[in-house]
Amino acid sequence: KKLGVALVGLGSYAKNQLAVALENAKNCYLAAIVTGTPAKAEEWSKKYNLPKESVYNYQNFDEIAKNKAVDIIYVVLPNSLHPEFVIRAAKAGKHVMCEKPMANSVAECEAMIKACKDAGVQLGVGYRLHFEPFTQEVMRIGQKKEKGAVRFVQTNFGFTIGDPTQWRLKKAMAGGGPLMDVGIYCVQASRYVTGEEPLWVTAQFGPITDKERFKDVEESVSWQMQFPGGAMVNGFSSYKSNIEQLYVSTNDGWLQLSPAYSYGPLKGKTNDGDMKMPIVHHQTVMMEAICKEFLETGKFPSHIGGEEGKRDMKILMAIYEAAETGKKISLV
Ligand code: NAD
Repeated sequence: KKLGVALVGLGSYAKNQLAVALENAKNCYLAAIVTGTPAKAEEWSKKYNLPKESVYNYQNFDEIAKNKAVDIIYVVLPNSLHPEFVIRAAKAGKHVMCEKPMANSVAECEAMIKACKDAGVQLGVGYRLHFEPFTQEVMRIGQKKEKGAVRFVQTNFGFTIGDPTQWRLKKAMAGGGPLMDVGIYCVQASRYVTGEEPLWVTAQFGPITDKERFKDVEESVSWQMQFPGGAMVNGFSSYKSNIEQLYVSTNDGWLQLSPAYSYGPLKGKTNDGDMKMPIVHHQTVMMEAICKEFLETGKFPSHIGGEEGKRDMKILMAIYEAAETGKKISLV
């Protein structure tokens, strides 16, 4: 069986990555779309041969409950709209995938988790790197302490943001700046390399060098965390620098991914030499793995579930609190 997936929000990630994944994947396909733009409805219907009754807008979206072709609703909207659409999807009785960051607050994550639990549907967050081979190798080496315990993690992710009017620069829609959008990958990496949860964070905002763009959200932010096994983390995220690295120093060696977080190809090295891993389309392997697990067990993989999204949200909020107050924020 192939699972039918409905994409909600047909922006650049849905169009350039997820729709491609749904074309490539063997166990799922694009079964429906939800869009506020009639021209997109027409273009996508033609391209994907979608029947009229599988094309929704944001107002009549709830009727998707009656659509038997749809097994999973995938929410790919700006961050502030994730809670509303995940909760509506759950109420429609469909399993739900939600893009990262899961929401803009811990309370919203909790409401989303509860709605899915109450409706008896699965909830997953689009953490594509959990299915990416270089990342999986880094997780394995770190968590199994193959090169000894992790002592230090240096991680950064940033890019130069364009259009000053876009939702990513509006706090009400994005929840924050680069930390919410791409710094979340660095927070994830420190957690999946150590296999632990941080004890505390300290953080500092960088200077605003572009007053036109950064009226509402941070331009850059640095943070530090300590993990229970003794690992220290230095993180940095920015909308003004093109950077993406993960460097991990362990008791007996080191590992590095650079690039570490974008669509790839990722590149890895350790103190033993180059990492040789297959190059994959991240979103295709993610969708195939999630659907395989669901078809076999009736559940989404638990490591990308709502609780995982909520754990990251707690840390992101603590980083903001630390940067705003100058205080060390405890997470335990
Ligand atoms: P985008 O701006 O390209 O697309 C957003 C879509 O939402 C557009 O089609 C827009 O029309 C629609 N939309 C509906 N209501 C809107 C409103 N009120 N304001 C603005 N847009 C509205 O953004 P994107 O890059 O596709 O990001 C969408 C989501 O996907 C975000 O949560 C983002 O963090 C996530 N994302 C994840 C990855 C990843 O690698 N996992 C990569 C990119 C984006």
